[in-house]
Amino acid sequence: MSRYERIEMLAIGDELLDGRVTDTNTVCLGRALTGLGLTLAQRTTVADDIEAIVRAARAAIARKAGLVVVSGGLGPTMDDITAEAFAAVAGVDLVRDEEQVRAIEERLRSRGRAVADNQLKQADRPEGSEVISNPRGTAPGFSLVHDGCRFVALPGVPHEFEYLLRTTVIAELGADGPQIVEATLYTFGLVEGDVDALLQHVRRKHADVRFGFRAKFPEIHVSFKVEASRQTELEAAVVAARKELGAHVYADVPISMAEVVLNLLRNEGATLAVAESCTGGLVADNLTDVAGSSDVFCAGVVSYANTAKEKLLGVAAETLATVGAVSENTVMQMANGVREQAGTTYGLSTSGIAGPGGGTADKPVGTIWIGAVGPSLAVARKLSLPFDRRGNKVVTAYAVLDLLRRALLTNAT
Ligand code: ATP
Ligand code: MG
Repeated sequence: MSRYERIEMLAIGDELLDGRVTDTNTVCLGRALTGLGLTLAQRTTVADDIEAIVRAARAAIARKAGLVVVSGGLGPTMDDITAEAFAAVAGVDLVRDEEQVRAIEERLRSRGRAVADNQLKQADRPEGSEVISNPRGTAPGFSLVHDGCRFVALPGVPHEFEYLLRTTVIAELGADGPQIVEATLYTFGLVEGDVDALLQHVRRKHADVRFGFRAKFPEIHVSFKVEASRQTELEAAVVAARKELGAHVYADVPISMAEVVLNLLRNEGATLAVAESCTGGLVADNLTDVAGSSDVFCAGVVSYANTAKEKLLGVAAETLATVGAVSENTVMQMANGVREQAGTTYGLSTSGIAGPGGGTADKPVGTIWIGAVGPSLAVARKLSLPFDRRGNKVVTAYAVLDLLRRALLTNAT
């Protein structure tokens, strides 16, 4: 198997076309190839239909594919016709593999099941193909070379497919070629277009590095990949990108914004409490998603109604009556209030109009105030967010944690 040949996927199954099942096997192949620095050139999905399978296989040959990974249709039922179809492609007969017959019999007996004729059908494969034993299930796969193209047919059951893919195709391709090293920067606060624009120079300067962007709302991940022999170039590109993106980079390992903030606070021996209005507890949810956060995160108050802001946090009735709940003054009082009540080092707060209703001319939907207070910290920010209700909540929860993160970084330097 050579890494320079064209690689395709052929997924077989009615259920993939009528929407019953999502084709995760193709995703699995795509990811595994990407991990090796290779690309999946094309995917084809066909029904459980011999003609359709034969046509798809011939089309792949015509496109000069060198390797086609085939998924599904190797089981015992009537609609499992992959072996038959590939026998037709190669113009050969089906042969029954005696060793596989014994393996299937053994597997079924060990589970107390009868050995029916249709079960043995799974030991059939095109003459001249190689068998791929399946320790995870009864249906073995096969590998068939025809007209310069190698077809590797694997069972459709996702965990069996993944196991056999990794132990055959991916293992061979990986052993064959240069290893790829990669790095990722995790950013928050920029849109994808901005990240792209900021990195134009860096991309031009480090042309051997493959840059990738992935939006995992509300984060944007920037990935860097090179052949292992060029590791120093990868490192230089990451340093240059960090410089361009500045404090928007919150991590270079896959951890959440909340975890970054908790780590910074823990290093200071500091504690945190949050007072939430429009986020409805989402900040606390983010913080408590991190195992072991209780040594830093002390308390959260969801003060949604104005009366709660007054009673639980001591926000002045006058403030609420004059400038309103969505204001700098209110979020500062909320953050101070929760910090005092809980006796923590820092306090955070959120208050805003998440939408879809509730906007006014001077405070349209998406107007949100966030606040952060601490020993030498008192800062508030106004956000103007364009997302739906859920999106606005998610971004606000991130933004208030980010506000504290940036303040802690500035303090530390
Ligand atoms: P077996 O019949 O032994 O289970 P098979 O090779 O015949 O294996 P199928 O019958 O086509 O495979 O599918 C088995 C299971 O795997 C089904 O539940 C099917 O929905 C699922 N499946 C098939 N193809 C895919 C795919 N590309 N992605 C995700 N799931 C799949
Ligand atoms: Mg099927």
